[in-house]
Amino acid sequence: MAKRLIFLGPPGAGKGTQAQIISEDWQIPHVSTGDILRAAVNQQTPLGKQAKDYMNRGELVPDDLILDLIQDRLSHEDTTNGWILDGFPRNVNQAAFLDKLLAKLDQNADCVLNLQVPDEVLLLRLLARKRKDDTEETIRRRLEVYHQDTVPVIDFYQTRKTLKTIDGNQTMDKVTEQLSEVISS
Ligand code: AMP
Repeated sequence: MAKRLIFLGPPGAGKGTQAQIISEDWQIPHVSTGDILRAAVNQQTPLGKQAKDYMNRGELVPDDLILDLIQDRLSHEDTTNGWILDGFPRNVNQAAFLDKLLAKLDQNADCVLNLQVPDEVLLLRLLARKRKDDTEETIRRRLEVYHQDTVPVIDFYQTRKTLKTIDGNQTMDKVTEQLSEVISS
C-alpha cells in the first residue's frame, strides 16, 4: 500500500536513520533534502554552489531553491507509490507549498511523524557525530533555526489527525518499533 510520510524533528533526532529503515521496510523512496543538497555541493552543481554557504552557517537554504528541488523530486515516477520526506518542510512557507503541490499531484500525506528529543540530548548527539565542516557554533545555530522556523511547522500540522509525536529519546530499535506501529495503523 502506498505510504506518504513526512518526518519532522530537530537536527540530531534520528530522522535520517529512521527514515532510511522505514524506506527499506516499506519499499518507498527516502527523500532527504539535506542529502540532495550535500550531493549537489560535492558535485559543485549550480544548486550546490548557491546552497553551500548557507549550509556551512547552519542557516536554511532559500526557499526558491528548495521548492524547485522538491517539486522536481516528487514529480519523478518512483514516488507515485509513496515517499518519505526527511528535512522538508522546514518552515511554514514550505509546508504551505507542499500542500499545494500535493493537491496538484492528487496526493495526500498519510502521517506527519514528529520525533521529539530535548535540546541538551541533541547537542550532545550532534557534537559526537560532528561532520568535518561542523563547528559547535554551526550546530547551535541549526538548533536555533529549528526552534524559530521549524517548530511552527508542527503547529501547522497540529490540527490534522495525521500528526503523530514520537519520543525520539529512546533506543533506536524502540523508536523504529513505535514509528512502524503508527505507520501501520
Ligand atoms: P539536514 O541534513 O536535513 O540536517 O540538512 C542539512 C542542511 O541543508 C540544513 O542545515 C540546511 O542548510 C539545508 N537544508 C536541508 N533541507 C532544507 C530545507 N527543507 N530548507 C532549507 N534548507 C534545507
